[in-house]
Amino acid sequence: MTTFKKGNVLPDAGGYYGEYGGVYVPECLIGPLQEVTDAYQRISRSADFIAELRYIRKHFQGRPTPVSYCKRLSDQLGGARIYLKREDLNHSGAHKLNHCMGEGLLAKYMGKKRVIAETGAGQHGVALATAAAYFGLECEIHMGEVDIAKQAPNVARMKLLGAKVVPVTFGLRTLKEAVDSAFAEYLKDPVNTIYCIGSVVGPHPFPMLVRDFQEVVGIEAREQFLDMTGGLPEAVTACVGGGSNAMGIFRGFLDDPTALYGVEPLGKGPKTGDHAASMTYGTPGIIHGFKCYLLQDKDGEPLPVYSCASGLDYPGVGPEHCYLKDQGRVQYVTALDTEAIDAFFKLSRLEGIIPALESAHAVAYAMKLAQEMKQGAILVNLSGRGDKDLDYVIENYGFGTPE
Ligand SMILES: *Cc1c(COP(=O)(O)O)cnc(C)c1O
Repeated sequence: MTTFKKGNVLPDAGGYYGEYGGVYVPECLIGPLQEVTDAYQRISRSADFIAELRYIRKHFQGRPTPVSYCKRLSDQLGGARIYLKREDLNHSGAHKLNHCMGEGLLAKYMGKKRVIAETGAGQHGVALATAAAYFGLECEIHMGEVDIAKQAPNVARMKLLGAKVVPVTFGLRTLKEAVDSAFAEYLKDPVNTIYCIGSVVGPHPFPMLVRDFQEVVGIEAREQFLDMTGGLPEAVTACVGGGSNAMGIFRGFLDDPTALYGVEPLGKGPKTGDHAASMTYGTPGIIHGFKCYLLQDKDGEPLPVYSCASGLDYPGVGPEHCYLKDQGRVQYVTALDTEAIDAFFKLSRLEGIIPALESAHAVAYAMKLAQEMKQGAILVNLSGRGDKDLDYVIENYGFGTPE
């Protein structure tokens, strides 16, 4: 493998990763976004900011999260050894808090009073509401009415954490309209408010700053893995929705001879509308203010997408992933709903770990890869825990078959 220097993938001054990324927004948003970029460049390098983020990660989030070896699962597969980076043990149960605490801290240093965001299934809303409560910031989460009806527990969590949940009542009343609604609200008061995006997506500087806040996952994992095994993993897998947990762990290994696999949701199969595999079936296009591989119709409108894991059903993907795909540094592969469900049951029964359905996609691909590789080690980013998915899985698949 050719050596790859991750310095190459920093966005350029315009926020581009190769041809992807950029700032495709209405004129009135350019100024507020530039303000965030400038403030971030200055604040994120200050010793106070770095020290406070380090303190929060250790004493509030519970970092570093461990790396676990899956002995029983590996023995059953009879191939490469499987290890997990345990982001399910991060406070609030997923990797999302890594960037929400970073965004909250940035808001505090910028003197903002309010954070605002959209949410689909509610996972990002809950993580941001958690950060807002910690920092004493007002929090406003825009959520489609359809999603509010489907996601009662997360709506309750956000309210308990003190957030205002704003129902979005126009269009299809789901994620896309929630983004439009939240951006419109942000524009009304960009002086006191900061927009906090939920993944490595959106206009520059969001893909960069979310990636930087998630990089801790990869840095920890590499060091822990070396410590534990004396070497590096032959492969790393991570699920890809917008791509934040995958970017986080990949960053730790970009310069190493480790194969990297981003696992996209193939849902019910390759038919349009039945999956959300943007890298595999998409073409370059523009969504939510940035350029990326996009599942789109002939007019450039995002196509409907689906996955059993609601955190993965996004028709676009972070611009840095698009660049890494074109460079050949990361391979983007897929897992079906059925494969993710199988991995969900296997990890639960064999390891005592109930994974998020999103993360189960990365486990599913690792299981396949382990059998192909026959030896060596695979590190999976276990992005979150599965408590939120129990009702869905049991209703649709029961309790699985005994091992
Ligand atoms: C939101 C979510 C994802 C998908 O988001 P990325 O930005 O692609 O990481 C994956 N896993 C879990 C547990 C999530 O909550």
